[in-house]
Amino acid sequence: MSVKQQATKHIELLSDDLHNLASRIHNNPELGSEEHKAVEQINSFLKDSQFEFGCGIDGMETAFQATHYQRSPGPTVALLAEYDALPSLGHACGHNLIAAASVGAAIGVGKIKENLPGKLVLLGTPGEENIGGKINMVTEGVFDEIDAAMMFHPSDQNVVGKSSLSCSSLEIIFHGASAHASGSPEEGINALDATIQTFNSLNALRQHIEDDSRIHGIITNGGEKPNIVPELASCEFNIRAPEDEYKDDLVEKLKKCAKGAALATGCEVEFNQPEPSYKAMRPNEPLVKAFKKNGESLGLEFQQAEGGAGSTDMGDVSQTIPAIHPYLSIVPEGTSAHTSEFRDAADSKKGKEVMITAAKILAMTAIDVLTKGSLNTEMKEYFAETAP
Ligand SMILES: [Zn+2]
Repeated sequence: MSVKQQATKHIELLSDDLHNLASRIHNNPELGSEEHKAVEQINSFLKDSQFEFGCGIDGMETAFQATHYQRSPGPTVALLAEYDALPSLGHACGHNLIAAASVGAAIGVGKIKENLPGKLVLLGTPGEENIGGKINMVTEGVFDEIDAAMMFHPSDQNVVGKSSLSCSSLEIIFHGASAHASGSPEEGINALDATIQTFNSLNALRQHIEDDSRIHGIITNGGEKPNIVPELASCEFNIRAPEDEYKDDLVEKLKKCAKGAALATGCEVEFNQPEPSYKAMRPNEPLVKAFKKNGESLGLEFQQAEGGAGSTDMGDVSQTIPAIHPYLSIVPEGTSAHTSEFRDAADSKKGKEVMITAAKILAMTAIDVLTKGSLNTEMKEYFAETAP
């Protein structure tokens, strides 16, 4: 039996336990930074598996690093586990399956690790949806000694080399002057008017921005009462684009819309850029090919990768080291993540079967990184060539 077959066999034997792990995390949804139960469950799952478990990174209590002992020198490969849920919706992005797949892959490879060079690391990355935990981990140097990082994400398609959008947030606050809206409206400076004018200017701007870019927002404060001229109003936007630089240009354009609105209404304008800001995903092509080949050897078919409309903190990892963020289908095509349908699929028989397949493909791809010198050279060359 080849080492890949041995690893996938071990995952096969763990299937029921991994299904249970995915279901337990699904049934106890925890928001980013609060995923204590999920981390505890993963920690106890790793018992007796020769992983050294360390919890808490850069002040993030629910981040962890589990390192398998190293037998001989070689590359370091990281499998990434997310486990945060969404407010109200629960595990509607299927991060419970991401966690179980990476844990399964790590144990599968760990079981045969004495026959392999290099180092194997399982990283628990909290708060993908709200704090972008991986961004802190990049800053903290967690990825400095790692040669390749990988995970899978459930989706409505099997796609490997899909990119994601760079994303920043912008909060705009207008300060005006209150007055009685009927008694003395001429004394008021209307901050809500400035907010509405910002949306109108943005809507005109939309015709002149590049395809695949997105600017979407809400009014977060529109005043207190209809009979009071709003002295304070605010709105918040997400600004996304395929390239980090163009996204930054769009942020500046949106600020100009707001400054124009402030001038027109006589308001003062203030800007805040709430964290996190996600970088665009740069899928590493040699790793993409390796994952795809391993998936095809298990009978999967993959669709053509086209641009990505979402954003993820895996983008920041992919701008730091060679990385992939492949998608495997758990729902009919057209079913979107962050819906109740997707949440139910993340705890379905099909969802958990796909998770086992993902664990196997991740294990095989991790073995490729650990054992193939040529893949290591190619992924590093590709990373250097495509650096912005
Ligand atoms: Zn997600």
